[in-house]
Amino acid sequence: MSSRPSPFELTVLGAGPAWSDRPGASGAAYLVRSGRTAVLLDLGQGSFPRLIRAIEPSALDAVLISHLHPDHFIDLVPLRHYLAYQLDPPRSVRVVAPAGLAGRIDALHDRPGFTAETLDCEAWPPGPFSIGDLTVEARRVTHTADSHAMRLGPPDQPGLVYSGDCGVADDLVPLIRAGDTLLVEVSFGNGPVPVGSLHLDAPAIARLVATTRPGRVLLTHLQMGLDREEPVRIVAAAMDGRQVELVEPGDVIDLSGT
Ligand SMILES: [Zn+2]
Ligand SMILES: [Zn+2]
Repeated sequence: MSSRPSPFELTVLGAGPAWSDRPGASGAAYLVRSGRTAVLLDLGQGSFPRLIRAIEPSALDAVLISHLHPDHFIDLVPLRHYLAYQLDPPRSVRVVAPAGLAGRIDALHDRPGFTAETLDCEAWPPGPFSIGDLTVEARRVTHTADSHAMRLGPPDQPGLVYSGDCGVADDLVPLIRAGDTLLVEVSFGNGPVPVGSLHLDAPAIARLVATTRPGRVLLTHLQMGLDREEPVRIVAAAMDGRQVELVEPGDVIDLSGT
């Protein structure tokens, strides 16, 4: 953990699961900054206030939405309102997301065109693309029919791989390069994952990191009521001393030093 500025940095704005009894456990939201580039990964329930305290939202180069479960996108609604009503003149922000996002938010408000007033939504492209200083690569993972994990990084440096929600750990293998930071959901903690639930547990992540060798693992999205220590120990046992932690909102992590 570090509070000093770094060239490539992750700020955890929300690390929650879909529901929680822990005050402040807001939905998934991770701010990635590299030089002058700022990209937000997901914006789940309750995370907008932390976003606006971390960065002027209209300065985001893009918001990347992993999949269309509300704990990963529903605070796009307050972002849309902020950009439309708080700023004069209104501003727009680019949103890369599964197809259909704008329609879902429009339907929530029963108002066609509601989303597009300030959110420029586009579907995930098929190949790698650049956002400012960062190269972004996404791959489909097993969860909803259109769920994405993603890797972001400056060229030729260790990157950040974010699982989104993911039911099969091996889906992440093509994205992870040795030395990367792996931000991965551990919804079911020590396990096992109930049959039919498309999420991960710590034993699956331990098997994944033993072969892919990320430089560091950041666990997130742990479900309500589960032990918060043992999943870290299970994954750490496969990491040969490399760092493993369960992240919390407010954590600022230097991604350039691994
Ligand atoms: Zn999900
Ligand atoms: Zn989720």
